[in-house]
Amino acid sequence: MARYIDSVCKQCRAEGMKLYLKGERCYNKCSFDKRPVAPGVHSQSRRKQSEYGLQLREKQKAKRVYGVLEDQFRRYFEMAERMKGITGENLLQLLERRLDNTVYRIGFADSRAQARQLVRHGHITVNGRKVNIPSYSVKPGDIIAVKGSSRQLEIFKALQDKTPRTIPAWLQVDMENYTANVVAMPAREDIDIPIEEHLIVELYSK
Ligand code: SF4
Repeated sequence: MARYIDSVCKQCRAEGMKLYLKGERCYNKCSFDKRPVAPGVHSQSRRKQSEYGLQLREKQKAKRVYGVLEDQFRRYFEMAERMKGITGENLLQLLERRLDNTVYRIGFADSRAQARQLVRHGHITVNGRKVNIPSYSVKPGDIIAVKGSSRQLEIFKALQDKTPRTIPAWLQVDMENYTANVVAMPAREDIDIPIEEHLIVELYSK
């Protein structure tokens, strides 16, 4: 499967901002403050970015945060356009509803990348059935859980001793029982990612 091959921190430097791609580890140690700009990227040229450049950067940012490649991102956009409501918000909602992102939001994983691994390795169930597709789209009424036999793994046992994370309003988490309910669709205010989605819509609408 295709994936980003840049080092994770290099992706933040390319965007000129912290994207927290390593999840909780970013709060302990972050190289961004020392080297905020990627090699070969000049802060001068960043300041002079064209409208197109800004739109492109915003799209790249969203792709990097959610770990989605171009073709799939484009498909999300096309789906968002067909939905009722505001296309940019629909796009973010579709990304947010990905199973890997949901597993991260619940707190089963420290980062979206780790969540993706957990899903791929078959540790996660949706409504009692194993789902190993990171792009699986969750919906209200779904119950996301750690598979029974996986709960004995150190990575999951350790969750009981962790400080609970702030959980978005669209999820209800019962960490003691390794389960979470999807109680609503993610709303724009639940998505704490610094993305100006209208720029992405403008880019694709050209
Ligand atoms: Fe980005 Fe996290 Fe690396 Fe800092 S530690 S540069 S926020 S991925």
